[in-house]
Amino acid sequence: MSRRKFLIGMGGIAVASTPGMLLAARSRLKVGIVGGGIMGASIALHLAQAGADVTVFEKTAPASGATGKSFAWLNAFSDDAHYRDLRLQSLAAYHQLQAQMQLDITWGGSLLWKQEPEAAVKLRERALRLDRAGYRMRVLGPEEFSALAPNLVPGAFEAAVYAGLDGHLDPVQVTHKFLDEAMKYGAGVLYPCEVTDLKFSGSRLTGVATTSGEYSLDRLVIAAGVDTPTLAAKADYVVPLQHSPGILAHSVPLPALIRTVNEHLPVSFKQTSSGRIVGTDSSYAPEIPVHREILRGRQEFPSAELRSMHGRRILDRIATLLPGARGAPLQRLTLGFRPLPEDGFPIVGYVPGSDHVYIAVTHSGVTLAAIMGQLIGREILDDLALAALAPYRPQRFSDQAL
Ligand SMILES: Cc1cc2nc3c(=O)[nH]c(=O)nc-3n(C[C@H](O)[C@H](O)[C@H](O)COP(=O)(O)OP(=O)(O)OC[C@H]3O[C@@H](n4cnc5c(N)ncnc54)[C@H](O)[C@@H]3O)c2cc1C
Repeated sequence: MSRRKFLIGMGGIAVASTPGMLLAARSRLKVGIVGGGIMGASIALHLAQAGADVTVFEKTAPASGATGKSFAWLNAFSDDAHYRDLRLQSLAAYHQLQAQMQLDITWGGSLLWKQEPEAAVKLRERALRLDRAGYRMRVLGPEEFSALAPNLVPGAFEAAVYAGLDGHLDPVQVTHKFLDEAMKYGAGVLYPCEVTDLKFSGSRLTGVATTSGEYSLDRLVIAAGVDTPTLAAKADYVVPLQHSPGILAHSVPLPALIRTVNEHLPVSFKQTSSGRIVGTDSSYAPEIPVHREILRGRQEFPSAELRSMHGRRILDRIATLLPGARGAPLQRLTLGFRPLPEDGFPIVGYVPGSDHVYIAVTHSGVTLAAIMGQLIGREILDDLALAALAPYRPQRFSDQAL
Protein backbone atom coordinates (compact mmCIF):
# COMPACT_ATOMS: atom_id res chain seq x y z
CA MET A 1 0.00 0.00 0.00
CA SER A 2 1.40 3.42 -0.77
CA ARG A 3 0.36 6.52 1.07
CA ARG A 4 -1.08 9.54 -0.67
CA LYS A 5 1.38 12.38 -0.39
CA PHE A 6 -0.04 15.85 -0.38
CA LEU A 7 2.15 18.72 0.57
CA ILE A 8 0.31 21.35 2.52
CA GLY A 9 1.97 24.61 3.53
CA MET A 10 2.36 26.05 7.01
CA GLY A 11 -1.13 27.52 6.62
CA GLY A 12 -2.41 23.95 6.66
CA ILE A 13 -1.49 23.72 10.32
CA ALA A 14 -4.52 25.73 11.36
CA VAL A 15 -6.84 23.22 9.69
CA ALA A 16 -5.25 20.43 11.67
CA SER A 17 -6.55 21.92 14.90
CA THR A 18 -10.10 20.99 13.90
CA PRO A 19 -10.46 17.28 14.60
CA GLY A 20 -13.07 15.31 12.70
CA MET A 21 -13.66 16.20 9.04
CA LEU A 22 -11.14 14.37 6.86
CA LEU A 23 -9.83 12.54 9.87
CA ALA A 24 -13.10 10.74 10.48
CA ALA A 25 -12.57 8.84 7.23
CA ARG A 26 -9.89 6.68 8.84
CA SER A 27 -11.41 6.82 12.26
CA ARG A 28 -10.93 3.25 13.37
CA LEU A 29 -7.35 2.93 12.31
CA LYS A 30 -5.57 1.02 15.09
CA VAL A 31 -2.57 3.07 16.13
CA GLY A 32 -0.07 2.00 18.76
CA ILE A 33 2.19 4.60 20.36
CA VAL A 34 5.38 3.55 22.12
CA GLY A 35 6.13 6.02 24.91
CA GLY A 36 4.07 7.85 27.49
CA GLY A 37 6.23 10.98 27.48
CA ILE A 38 4.83 14.36 26.47
CA MET A 39 5.27 13.60 22.76
CA GLY A 40 3.52 10.23 22.88
CA ALA A 41 0.80 11.71 25.09
CA SER A 42 0.09 14.62 22.73
CA ILE A 43 0.07 12.34 19.68
CA ALA A 44 -2.31 9.99 21.51
CA LEU A 45 -4.59 12.88 22.43
CA HIS A 46 -4.85 14.23 18.90
CA LEU A 47 -5.29 10.80 17.29
CA ALA A 48 -7.92 9.71 19.81
CA GLN A 49 -9.82 13.01 19.46
CA ALA A 50 -9.89 12.45 15.72
CA GLY A 51 -11.42 9.01 16.20
CA ALA A 52 -8.49 6.59 15.92
CA ASP A 53 -8.32 3.44 18.02
CA VAL A 54 -5.25 4.36 20.11
CA THR A 55 -3.13 2.33 22.51
CA VAL A 56 -0.17 3.87 24.36
CA PHE A 57 2.50 1.43 25.56
CA GLU A 58 4.71 2.82 28.34
CA LYS A 59 7.42 0.64 29.82
CA THR A 60 7.64 2.42 33.19
CA ALA A 61 5.12 5.19 33.91
CA PRO A 62 3.93 8.31 32.07
CA ALA A 63 6.54 11.11 31.99
CA SER A 64 9.23 8.87 33.48
CA GLY A 65 11.71 9.58 30.64
CA ALA A 66 13.17 12.92 29.51
CA THR A 67 9.79 14.59 30.05
CA GLY A 68 9.89 14.20 33.83
CA LYS A 69 13.43 15.62 33.92
CA SER A 70 12.84 18.54 31.60
CA PHE A 71 13.23 22.25 32.27
CA ALA A 72 10.07 22.67 30.17
CA TRP A 73 10.74 26.17 28.88
CA LEU A 74 8.39 26.86 25.97
CA ASN A 75 10.31 28.99 23.52
CA ALA A 76 11.06 29.56 19.85
CA PHE A 77 14.79 30.28 20.05
CA SER A 78 16.23 29.10 16.77
CA ASP A 79 18.08 30.80 13.95
CA ASP A 80 16.49 28.39 11.46
CA ALA A 81 13.39 30.12 10.08
CA HIS A 82 11.33 26.97 9.41
CA TYR A 83 12.10 25.44 12.79
CA ARG A 84 11.43 28.73 14.59
CA ASP A 85 8.05 28.97 12.86
CA LEU A 86 7.20 25.43 13.90
CA ARG A 87 8.06 26.32 17.50
CA LEU A 88 5.97 29.49 17.31
CA GLN A 89 3.07 27.44 15.95
CA SER A 90 3.46 25.16 18.94
CA LEU A 91 3.25 28.07 21.38
CA ALA A 92 -0.01 29.05 19.65
CA ALA A 93 -1.24 25.45 19.83
CA TYR A 94 -0.53 25.43 23.59
CA HIS A 95 -2.75 28.50 23.99
CA GLN A 96 -5.56 26.59 22.28
CA LEU A 97 -5.03 23.48 24.38
CA GLN A 98 -4.83 25.58 27.53
CA ALA A 99 -8.23 27.08 26.77
CA GLN A 100 -9.74 23.66 25.99
CA MET A 101 -8.18 21.68 28.82
CA GLN A 102 -7.31 24.23 31.52
CA LEU A 103 -3.60 23.45 31.26
CA ASP A 104 -1.51 25.16 33.91
CA ILE A 105 0.98 27.14 31.76
CA THR A 106 2.79 30.22 33.01
CA TRP A 107 3.07 32.69 30.13
CA GLY A 108 5.58 34.98 31.83
CA GLY A 109 8.07 35.37 28.98
CA SER A 110 11.80 34.85 29.43
CA LEU A 111 14.69 37.06 30.44
CA LEU A 112 18.23 36.58 29.19
CA TRP A 113 21.11 38.80 30.20
CA LYS A 114 24.85 39.06 29.69
CA GLN A 115 27.71 40.82 31.40
CA GLU A 116 30.59 40.21 29.01
CA PRO A 117 30.65 42.92 26.30
CA GLU A 118 31.20 40.56 23.36
CA ALA A 119 28.41 38.17 24.44
CA ALA A 120 26.15 41.17 25.08
CA VAL A 121 26.60 42.45 21.52
CA LYS A 122 25.74 39.00 20.17
CA LEU A 123 22.65 38.73 22.39
CA ARG A 124 21.36 42.14 21.31
CA GLU A 125 21.98 41.42 17.62
CA ARG A 126 20.26 38.05 17.86
CA ALA A 127 17.27 39.56 19.64
CA LEU A 128 16.86 42.21 16.96
CA ARG A 129 17.14 39.60 14.22
CA LEU A 130 14.59 37.29 15.83
CA ASP A 131 12.24 40.17 16.57
CA ARG A 132 12.34 41.27 12.93
CA ALA A 133 11.54 37.67 11.97
CA GLY A 134 8.37 37.71 14.08
CA TYR A 135 9.55 36.20 17.40
CA ARG A 136 8.83 39.18 19.65
CA MET A 137 11.87 40.37 21.66
CA ARG A 138 12.64 43.53 23.59
CA VAL A 139 16.04 44.81 24.63
CA LEU A 140 15.72 46.07 28.22
CA GLY A 141 17.46 48.70 30.31
CA PRO A 142 17.94 48.21 34.08
CA GLU A 143 14.68 49.96 34.99
CA GLU A 144 12.51 47.96 32.66
CA PHE A 145 14.29 44.83 33.87
CA SER A 146 13.42 45.46 37.52
CA ALA A 147 9.86 46.41 36.62
CA LEU A 148 9.44 43.04 34.92
CA ALA A 149 11.18 40.97 37.58
CA PRO A 150 11.36 42.98 40.83
CA ASN A 151 12.68 40.03 42.86
CA LEU A 152 15.64 39.38 40.56
CA VAL A 153 19.06 40.87 41.30
CA PRO A 154 20.76 40.52 37.93
CA GLY A 155 23.96 42.47 38.79
CA ALA A 156 25.42 44.95 36.34
CA PHE A 157 24.68 43.78 32.81
CA GLU A 158 25.67 44.90 29.33
CA ALA A 159 22.57 43.56 27.59
CA ALA A 160 19.23 42.11 28.63
CA VAL A 161 16.49 40.74 26.43
CA TYR A 162 12.87 39.86 27.11
CA ALA A 163 11.11 37.24 24.96
CA GLY A 164 7.49 37.94 25.79
CA LEU A 165 5.89 34.99 24.00
CA ASP A 166 7.68 32.35 26.07
CA GLY A 167 6.23 30.32 28.86
CA HIS A 168 6.82 27.31 31.06
CA LEU A 169 4.83 24.40 32.41
CA ASP A 170 4.98 21.33 34.60
CA PRO A 171 5.72 18.61 32.03
CA VAL A 172 4.58 15.74 34.26
CA GLN A 173 1.24 17.33 34.97
CA VAL A 174 0.66 18.24 31.32
CA THR A 175 1.58 14.74 30.11
CA HIS A 176 -0.96 13.24 32.52
CA LYS A 177 -3.59 15.72 31.36
CA PHE A 178 -2.98 14.79 27.71
CA LEU A 179 -3.26 11.08 28.51
CA ASP A 180 -6.37 11.52 30.68
CA GLU A 181 -8.02 13.48 27.89
CA ALA A 182 -6.98 10.86 25.30
CA MET A 183 -8.58 8.19 27.51
CA LYS A 184 -11.84 10.14 27.48
CA TYR A 185 -11.79 9.61 23.71
CA GLY A 186 -11.27 5.89 24.18
CA ALA A 187 -7.46 5.58 24.14
CA GLY A 188 -5.88 2.78 26.13
CA VAL A 189 -2.81 3.71 28.19
CA LEU A 190 -0.90 0.63 29.30
CA TYR A 191 1.91 0.70 31.86
CA PRO A 192 4.17 -0.82 32.84
CA CYS A 193 4.13 -2.41 29.40
CA GLU A 194 7.30 -2.54 27.34
CA VAL A 195 7.23 -3.03 23.59
CA THR A 196 9.84 -5.71 22.98
CA ASP A 197 9.44 -6.41 19.28
CA LEU A 198 7.72 -5.30 16.08
CA LYS A 199 5.73 -7.86 14.11
CA PHE A 200 5.71 -7.83 10.31
CA SER A 201 4.12 -9.76 7.49
CA GLY A 202 6.63 -9.14 4.71
CA SER A 203 7.33 -5.43 4.98
CA ARG A 204 3.91 -4.66 6.46
CA LEU A 205 3.65 -4.05 10.20
CA THR A 206 1.03 -6.25 11.81
CA GLY A 207 1.55 -5.41 15.47
CA VAL A 208 3.87 -5.43 18.45
CA ALA A 209 5.02 -7.88 21.08
CA THR A 210 4.98 -6.44 24.59
CA THR A 211 5.58 -7.61 28.13
CA SER A 212 1.77 -7.92 28.37
CA GLY A 213 1.27 -9.92 25.18
CA GLU A 214 0.85 -9.20 21.49
CA TYR A 215 -1.27 -6.42 19.96
CA SER A 216 -2.31 -6.14 16.35
CA LEU A 217 -1.95 -2.66 14.85
CA ASP A 218 -2.35 -0.79 11.57
CA ARG A 219 0.27 1.86 12.45
CA LEU A 220 2.95 2.25 15.08
CA VAL A 221 4.39 5.55 16.31
CA ILE A 222 7.71 5.21 18.10
CA ALA A 223 7.94 8.15 20.50
CA ALA A 224 10.25 6.40 22.90
CA GLY A 225 12.72 9.25 23.51
CA VAL A 226 16.29 8.02 23.90
CA ASP A 227 15.06 4.42 23.50
CA THR A 228 13.75 5.14 20.00
CA PRO A 229 16.90 3.79 18.25
CA THR A 230 16.46 0.32 19.80
CA LEU A 231 12.94 -0.10 18.42
CA ALA A 232 13.60 1.69 15.14
CA ALA A 233 16.43 -0.76 14.46
CA LYS A 234 13.75 -3.48 14.32
CA ALA A 235 12.34 -1.60 11.33
CA ASP A 236 15.85 -1.36 9.87
CA TYR A 237 16.31 2.30 10.63
CA VAL A 238 19.26 3.84 12.47
CA VAL A 239 18.21 6.85 14.55
CA PRO A 240 21.21 9.12 14.98
CA LEU A 241 21.01 10.65 18.47
CA GLN A 242 23.61 12.55 20.48
CA HIS A 243 24.23 11.63 24.10
CA SER A 244 23.09 14.61 26.15
CA PRO A 245 22.74 14.40 29.93
CA GLY A 246 21.33 17.29 31.97
CA ILE A 247 20.62 17.90 35.66
CA LEU A 248 18.00 20.06 37.34
CA ALA A 249 17.59 21.03 40.98
CA HIS A 250 14.04 21.37 42.34
CA SER A 251 13.47 23.27 45.60
CA VAL A 252 10.54 22.79 47.94
CA PRO A 253 7.63 25.16 47.18
CA LEU A 254 8.28 28.83 48.01
CA PRO A 255 5.99 31.87 47.91
CA ALA A 256 5.61 33.36 44.42
CA LEU A 257 8.80 35.22 43.43
CA ILE A 258 9.05 35.19 39.65
CA ARG A 259 7.08 34.32 36.50
CA THR A 260 9.78 34.64 33.83
CA VAL A 261 12.14 31.88 32.70
CA ASN A 262 15.57 33.30 33.48
CA GLU A 263 18.86 32.67 31.72
CA HIS A 264 22.14 34.14 32.87
CA LEU A 265 24.42 31.42 31.57
CA PRO A 266 25.49 29.04 32.89
CA VAL A 267 22.56 29.52 35.29
CA SER A 268 18.94 29.13 34.17
CA PHE A 269 15.88 28.82 36.36
CA LYS A 270 12.14 29.33 36.74
CA GLN A 271 9.54 29.05 39.48
CA THR A 272 6.77 26.55 38.78
CA SER A 273 3.14 27.36 39.45
CA SER A 274 3.43 25.15 42.55
CA GLY A 275 6.20 27.45 43.85
CA ARG A 276 9.24 25.23 43.25
CA ILE A 277 12.42 26.83 41.97
CA VAL A 278 13.74 24.61 39.17
CA GLY A 279 17.05 25.23 37.47
CA THR A 280 20.59 24.30 36.64
CA ASP A 281 24.04 25.83 36.46
CA SER A 282 25.25 23.76 33.53
CA SER A 283 23.37 22.53 30.48
CA TYR A 284 25.83 19.64 29.97
CA ALA A 285 28.12 17.42 32.03
CA PRO A 286 31.55 19.11 32.13
CA GLU A 287 34.39 16.94 30.79
CA ILE A 288 36.18 16.12 34.02
CA PRO A 289 37.47 12.69 35.09
CA VAL A 290 34.61 11.98 37.55
CA HIS A 291 32.12 12.44 34.71
CA ARG A 292 33.71 9.72 32.59
CA GLU A 293 30.80 7.27 32.96
CA ILE A 294 28.01 9.83 32.52
CA LEU A 295 29.65 11.16 29.37
CA ARG A 296 29.60 7.64 27.93
CA GLY A 297 26.10 6.39 28.66
CA ARG A 298 22.92 6.56 30.66
CA GLN A 299 23.08 6.00 34.40
CA GLU A 300 21.54 6.99 37.71
CA PHE A 301 23.37 9.30 40.11
CA PRO A 302 25.92 7.11 41.89
CA SER A 303 24.97 8.38 45.37
CA ALA A 304 22.51 10.46 47.36
CA GLU A 305 25.43 12.60 48.62
CA LEU A 306 26.34 13.53 45.07
CA ARG A 307 22.77 14.44 44.30
CA SER A 308 22.50 16.75 47.27
CA MET A 309 25.94 18.29 46.60
CA HIS A 310 24.94 19.22 43.03
CA GLY A 311 21.46 20.30 44.09
CA ARG A 312 22.69 22.54 46.91
CA ARG A 313 25.28 24.20 44.66
CA ILE A 314 22.71 24.92 41.95
CA LEU A 315 20.13 26.38 44.34
CA ASP A 316 22.81 28.54 46.00
CA ARG A 317 23.87 29.92 42.61
CA ILE A 318 20.27 30.67 41.70
CA ALA A 319 19.82 32.46 45.04
CA THR A 320 22.61 34.90 44.17
CA LEU A 321 20.26 36.15 41.42
CA LEU A 322 16.99 35.52 43.27
CA PRO A 323 17.67 36.32 46.94
CA GLY A 324 14.12 35.39 47.97
CA ALA A 325 15.10 31.78 47.27
CA ARG A 326 18.11 31.85 49.61
CA GLY A 327 18.37 28.72 51.75
CA ALA A 328 15.43 27.00 50.01
CA PRO A 329 15.64 23.30 50.82
CA LEU A 330 16.37 20.97 47.92
CA GLN A 331 13.46 18.68 47.16
CA ARG A 332 15.12 16.62 44.45
CA LEU A 333 17.75 16.60 41.74
CA THR A 334 16.95 14.99 38.41
CA LEU A 335 19.36 13.57 35.87
CA GLY A 336 17.79 13.31 32.42
CA PHE A 337 18.92 12.40 28.92
CA ARG A 338 17.74 14.55 26.05
CA PRO A 339 16.48 12.75 22.94
CA LEU A 340 18.71 14.96 20.81
CA PRO A 341 18.98 14.12 17.09
CA GLU A 342 22.45 14.37 15.60
CA ASP A 343 21.69 17.58 13.67
CA GLY A 344 19.58 19.14 16.44
CA PHE A 345 16.29 18.95 14.52
CA PRO A 346 13.29 16.66 15.09
CA ILE A 347 13.11 13.28 13.35
CA VAL A 348 9.46 12.84 12.39
CA GLY A 349 7.81 10.61 9.81
CA TYR A 350 7.62 7.07 8.44
CA VAL A 351 10.91 5.20 8.47
CA PRO A 352 12.38 4.70 5.01
CA GLY A 353 10.65 1.85 3.23
CA SER A 354 7.66 1.65 5.58
CA ASP A 355 4.13 3.06 5.41
CA HIS A 356 3.33 1.80 8.89
CA VAL A 357 6.15 2.57 11.29
CA TYR A 358 6.38 6.26 12.20
CA ILE A 359 9.07 7.87 14.33
CA ALA A 360 8.72 10.97 16.49
CA VAL A 361 11.88 11.87 18.37
CA THR A 362 13.00 15.36 19.19
CA HIS A 363 14.73 17.66 21.59
CA SER A 364 12.58 20.57 22.75
CA GLY A 365 9.83 18.01 22.79
CA VAL A 366 8.02 19.91 25.54
CA THR A 367 7.89 23.06 23.41
CA LEU A 368 6.96 21.05 20.31
CA ALA A 369 4.50 18.49 21.70
CA ALA A 370 1.40 20.62 21.10
CA ILE A 371 2.00 21.16 17.39
CA MET A 372 3.60 17.76 16.80
CA GLY A 373 0.49 16.04 18.18
CA GLN A 374 -1.71 17.95 15.72
CA LEU A 375 0.50 17.45 12.69
CA ILE A 376 1.42 13.83 13.30
CA GLY A 377 -2.21 12.93 14.04
CA ARG A 378 -3.19 14.46 10.75
CA GLU A 379 -0.39 12.84 8.74
CA ILE A 380 -1.29 9.40 10.04
CA LEU A 381 -5.06 9.61 9.76
CA ASP A 382 -5.26 11.51 6.47
CA ASP A 383 -2.29 9.86 4.72
CA LEU A 384 -0.68 13.23 4.27
CA ALA A 385 2.88 14.46 4.16
CA LEU A 386 2.68 17.99 5.52
CA ALA A 387 5.17 20.63 4.43
CA ALA A 388 5.36 21.77 8.05
CA LEU A 389 7.26 18.54 8.80
CA ALA A 390 9.11 18.15 5.48
CA PRO A 391 12.58 19.22 6.71
CA TYR A 392 12.49 16.72 9.58
CA ARG A 393 12.01 13.40 7.80
CA PRO A 394 13.98 10.30 8.82
CA GLN A 395 15.03 10.00 5.15
CA ARG A 396 17.59 12.78 5.61
CA PHE A 397 19.76 10.25 7.42
CA SER A 398 18.84 7.36 5.14
CA ASP A 399 22.40 6.87 3.94
CA GLN A 400 22.82 5.52 7.46
CA ALA A 401 20.03 2.95 7.08
CA LEU A 402 21.12 -0.57 8.01
C1 LIG B 1 17.66 18.37 31.38
C2 LIG B 1 16.66 18.58 30.26
C3 LIG B 1 16.18 19.85 29.99
C4 LIG B 1 15.27 20.05 28.96
N1 LIG B 1 14.76 21.30 28.75
C5 LIG B 1 13.81 21.50 27.81
C6 LIG B 1 13.18 22.76 27.69
O1 LIG B 1 13.45 23.70 28.43
N2 LIG B 1 12.23 22.90 26.72
C7 LIG B 1 11.87 21.86 25.89
O2 LIG B 1 11.00 22.05 25.04
N3 LIG B 1 12.47 20.65 26.00
C8 LIG B 1 13.42 20.44 26.93
N4 LIG B 1 14.02 19.22 27.08
C9 LIG B 1 13.72 18.19 26.09
C10 LIG B 1 12.38 17.53 26.34
O3 LIG B 1 12.24 17.23 27.71
C11 LIG B 1 12.26 16.29 25.51
O4 LIG B 1 12.48 16.60 24.14
C12 LIG B 1 10.87 15.66 25.65
O5 LIG B 1 10.57 15.44 27.01
C13 LIG B 1 10.82 14.37 24.87
O6 LIG B 1 9.58 13.77 25.13
P1 LIG B 1 9.30 12.32 24.57
O7 LIG B 1 7.90 11.99 24.93
O8 LIG B 1 9.69 12.28 23.14
O9 LIG B 1 10.37 11.38 25.31
P2 LIG B 1 10.36 10.82 26.79
O10 LIG B 1 9.80 11.77 27.76
O11 LIG B 1 11.74 10.30 27.06
O12 LIG B 1 9.34 9.61 26.72
C14 LIG B 1 9.66 8.40 26.10
C15 LIG B 1 8.93 7.31 26.89
O13 LIG B 1 9.06 6.10 26.18
C16 LIG B 1 9.11 5.05 27.12
N5 LIG B 1 9.68 3.88 26.44
C17 LIG B 1 10.92 3.77 25.91
N6 LIG B 1 11.07 2.56 25.33
C18 LIG B 1 9.90 1.90 25.47
C19 LIG B 1 9.43 0.62 25.08
N7 LIG B 1 10.22 -0.24 24.41
N8 LIG B 1 8.16 0.27 25.38
C20 LIG B 1 7.35 1.13 26.06
N9 LIG B 1 7.75 2.36 26.46
C21 LIG B 1 9.01 2.74 26.17
C22 LIG B 1 10.00 5.62 28.22
O14 LIG B 1 9.78 4.94 29.46
C23 LIG B 1 9.55 7.08 28.26
O15 LIG B 1 8.55 7.31 29.25
C24 LIG B 1 14.88 18.97 28.13
C25 LIG B 1 15.34 17.69 28.43
C26 LIG B 1 16.22 17.48 29.49
C27 LIG B 1 16.68 16.08 29.82
